[in-house]
Amino acid sequence: MKANWGRIVKKIEAATKDEVAILKSLLDTVNSKICPECKECCCAAHNFDRGCAKSGGYYDVQYDPTPPTLVKYLKKKYKFTVKSGFLNPETGCKLPRYLRSYTCLIYFCGKEQKLLRRIDVTMAGYLARRIRTIKEQILTNV
Ligand code: SF4
Ligand code: SF4
Repeated sequence: MKANWGRIVKKIEAATKDEVAILKSLLDTVNSKICPECKECCCAAHNFDRGCAKSGGYYDVQYDPTPPTLVKYLKKKYKFTVKSGFLNPETGCKLPRYLRSYTCLIYFCGKEQKLLRRIDVTMAGYLARRIRTIKEQILTNV
């Protein structure tokens, strides 16, 4: 039977809403200060000659429970491009946090690490792992 990804994505959104809300409160102030002016965006193609487009959004079955068919669905829905991946160079990542890969959720650049309190980085890492576990639970029953 073909998976109804629209319905599954809504389920993931509802199940992770508390974790995503806390992540937002921890990170948004710092990100809105530093990201708009950043010339070394971690998601951009020039970064390590990798970036979002070349990595496919950093979805990797080794670290992330998102199956390739769901990644394909997200690429179509959020207009993944061969140049920028899921990144909109003007406004940032097109994916809502609950759909970002584990690698994207757990990674903090040097500038973020300087400005965030250590406790906030630890908390954000814990939340990223919680989101991954919740997704795993939902996706194993698909
Ligand atoms: S998270 Fe860091 S590397 Fe990425 S855009 Fe923001 S400041 Fe730049
Ligand atoms: S999915 Fe979003 S956060 Fe992850 S690399 Fe791509 S643009 Fe960046």
